[in-house]
Amino acid sequence: MNTFQFSRPTTVDQAVQFGATASTANQAAEVRFVAGGTTLIDLMKLNVERPNHIVDINVLPLDKIETASDGGLILGALTRNSDVAHHPMVQRSYPVLSQALLSGASPQLRNMATTAGNLLQRTRCVYFRDTAHACNKRNPGTGCSAIEGYNRTLAILGTSKDCIATNPSDQNVALTALDATIQVQGIKGKRSIPIREFYLLPGSTPNRETVLEPGDLIVSVTLPRPIAGGRFHYLKLRDRAAYEFALTSAAIVLKLNGKRIERAQVALGGVGTRPWHSPEAEHILKGSVVSSATFRRAAEEALKRARPASENGFKVELAKRCIVRALTLASTMA
Ligand code: SF4
Repeated sequence: MNTFQFSRPTTVDQAVQFGATASTANQAAEVRFVAGGTTLIDLMKLNVERPNHIVDINVLPLDKIETASDGGLILGALTRNSDVAHHPMVQRSYPVLSQALLSGASPQLRNMATTAGNLLQRTRCVYFRDTAHACNKRNPGTGCSAIEGYNRTLAILGTSKDCIATNPSDQNVALTALDATIQVQGIKGKRSIPIREFYLLPGSTPNRETVLEPGDLIVSVTLPRPIAGGRFHYLKLRDRAAYEFALTSAAIVLKLNGKRIERAQVALGGVGTRPWHSPEAEHILKGSVVSSATFRRAAEEALKRARPASENGFKVELAKRCIVRALTLASTMA
């Protein structure tokens, strides 16, 4: 592990300044904010992340869960995954988020991991975490070892010739289905970014994963007003029942009027290079009557652009069945 400078700011403004000053003073500087450290510290031990300045944000006042003025819910950046998952309002009005969080990692990790850290969770592509192999995401321009290598768990949607890595988070899939908004503070001030515009496709620059600029600090995530009579489900399919990443997952938000679908929000995990919003599936569902044929048609549309690699073709059908099952469970929710 390399030596690094360590700062512990006590205000958000100070934290942003630390990030921005370090980046400006030395263009090569790699500044990282640390909160739970459940991704960053692992990657530093592997020499994948080599920051020369770490800004510890744990004492910042960003650990509250509060009701927004419009009735939505504000999750502070430093709220722990366990606290969010077990919060009464999350369980009552946004159960898909609670289900997604509780399906991820282990209780110990969820007690440490934060909302903002989870948003920035790095891929589990084995080559990204192994510095002996070429990886465009870790070391731009070196090539992608996964395309001709072990790619069973990697993405089938949103891939490029330079990277097929999957976004590993469960939380981010639920937040995408819920249409959450991310509040950021940077050197130019505050701004709000819809989560569906937060993540970048890999294209030819897979090292750039989000629209964040150097020094930008995530301060909170806002969930929209609860949907009266909403129905929700998060379904995660994986190789083992616990402490495992998704091969495919589906986060569903529905509102029904009798048997007709008034509103549908669909996001997929484990198959996309980013948490995968599916307007194609939503288009089929909205206005349709609940039926297994409608659900299958929505699933077919959601996977229409899938481009599997050598080992992950099975994910196409698995993801379709995951969507159908999640829609069935959401629509029959008591
Ligand atoms: Fe690296 Fe992406 Fe290729 Fe994995 S898929 S080796 S993260 S470039």
